[in-house]
Order: sequence, then C-alpha cells, then structure tokens
Amino acid sequence: MSPGRRIRPGYPAAMQSVKRRGRAVADRVVEQRVAQRVAAASAGRRGRGLVLLWHRVRPEGPGEDEVVRSVATADLAEQLDVLRELGDVVALAELEHLGRRRRPAFALTFDDDDPGHVRETLPLLRARDLPATFFLSGRWRTAAGPYWWEHLESCARSSGVATVAAALGLAPTTDVRALAGALTGTPGSLRLTSRATGGSDTMTRDQAGALVAAGMEIGFHTFAHPSLPSLPDAALRAALTAGRDELAAELATPLRRFAYPHGHADARVAAATRDAGYLSAWTTAKRVARADDEPMRRGRWDLGHLPIDRFRTTVLRGLARPWD
Ligand SMILES: [Zn+2]
Repeated sequence: MSPGRRIRPGYPAAMQSVKRRGRAVADRVVEQRVAQRVAAASAGRRGRGLVLLWHRVRPEGPGEDEVVRSVATADLAEQLDVLRELGDVVALAELEHLGRRRRPAFALTFDDDDPGHVRETLPLLRARDLPATFFLSGRWRTAAGPYWWEHLESCARSSGVATVAAALGLAPTTDVRALAGALTGTPGSLRLTSRATGGSDTMTRDQAGALVAAGMEIGFHTFAHPSLPSLPDAALRAALTAGRDELAAELATPLRRFAYPHGHADARVAAATRDAGYLSAWTTAKRVARADDEPMRRGRWDLGHLPIDRFRTTVLRGLARPWD
C-alpha cells in the first residue's frame, strides 16, 4: 500500500467510484455512437440521403443584427466531420440518382452570393476533399449590389430598426429579423435594393471563379431573389432566367440546377422552373432524398444553427423519417 493511501484512506475508494462513473459514461457514449452508425448504415441500405443547406459562414458566428444568421466556421467544420462519420458526402448529381448503398449519402449546398463561401467554406471543403453546389445570383455583375436583406441590415445598423420600419410603413418593431419577415415576398423588399447605403460585403467575380476552379458546381438562385410564388407568370418566367446565361458564360460553367429564393415554391413555380430547363430545383422543405423525388420540389435541411450534438441527432432522425 502506498503512503498516500495510508494518509487519506478514503481517497482511493472515492477515486475508484469516480473512475467507474467516468467509464460508464464513456461506455454509453461509445454505445450511442455505435447505435448511430448502425442506424445510419440502415438508412444507406434503404437508399436514403439528405441534402444540407448553409447560407453565411463567418469566423465569429452569428450576430444579433443579422437577418440571415451566420454559422461559425469552426461549427461548419464540426458539422462536415459528423456527416463524413455517418455517411458519404457526394455531389448533388449523384444524390439525385441514389441507389442502395453501404452508408447514407449527403450532399452539401450553399446559397447566395456570400464571400464567406470562398473565405471560410472552400478551405474546409478542400481540406476534406468534399464536393458541394453553390447556388449563386451573380450580383457582382451589375450595380444593384447586395441582396435586399443586406440593404435592410445596412439601413438598420445606420438608422435603427424602428426608424427603418416606420420609413417602410410597417408595424413598429426593433427586431430586424421580424422586419425582414414582414418584407419577404413583398414589393417593398425589392425596392430596398434601390436604397443602397453601402458597407455590405458581397461576393466578387474572382471569388465565384475560385469556386469553379476548385471543381465546385454552380447553380442558379435568381438575380433579384424574389419570393417566386408572389410573381405573375411573365415576371416568374423572367426571374427564372434573367442573368442565368450571362452568369454561366462569365464563369464558363453550365447552371443546370436551381434553388428557390427563400425556399418558396408551389406547383405553378415548379412547372415554370422545369420549363426554364433546369434538371432539378431545391426548396427548404425537410425531406429525405430518394431517387424518385419530384425533380422540381426536392428538399434541403438548413441545420447550421444547431449545436453539434443536436445537429447529429437531427440528421439521424431525418434519415429515419418515413417517406414524405
Ligand atoms: Zn437565398
């Protein structure tokens, strides 16, 4: 027996108890992870997959004054690693033709002309050799500048949310996201783009080119980012194609896939999107991906805001969901 044990006779027993509890917790974590991998593999054998969606990625993570909440770079890195642990990250084209597989498939998508796609996300993808699809607008091509909600953020930072709400004739609020929600799908949202106050950080042509050079797929997301169900037929057809061919020519890559602005689509919008020549179109409805999905109403999961444990369990629950 060691001198320490003679001096503190209760210590070894207490330590052993702590160690036992620690081992039990570790065992439970291992059992949980094994069960999760078994559940994921089962989803893969049934030909299931999920498409994930992110918007802004910033080193510092979300800010209180953002309309579209950022995801921290370190959090995205953890999320990508969870997906690689549970399944295989594949190109969107491969996920559209999903068969039975040993592990579930995940595809990664990123929306909007956000410079964080290149500064933050691209290095994470390259380090892990992962494919992704970026749905862009090509707003750097004209003087229109950032999206309407980025103008809203700029206005709110310089004048205050309440002042901006009053100027737009909307109900009083001090919450910039509530204000954006009230504007989404209204003509007022697009009128904001004519009130540019500068200061927003927008993707450049060279940054978009870097995504293409890295082998990433580029899809289209409309130029002006309207809520498409709110548009009459002629304006809908114009929104689906305006700027598409120019963007494809500038980046020297075809734009075969489409992401609905704000995720909004209905049967009329889906039919017009098919007529505009896209191979597939993506909403923000949380649906399991399967080979026979309706091509113009496919689902994506926006989970970037979740803490990593909830991200993991939500992905697993998503894979286990009954067919929609
Ligand atoms: Zn968008």
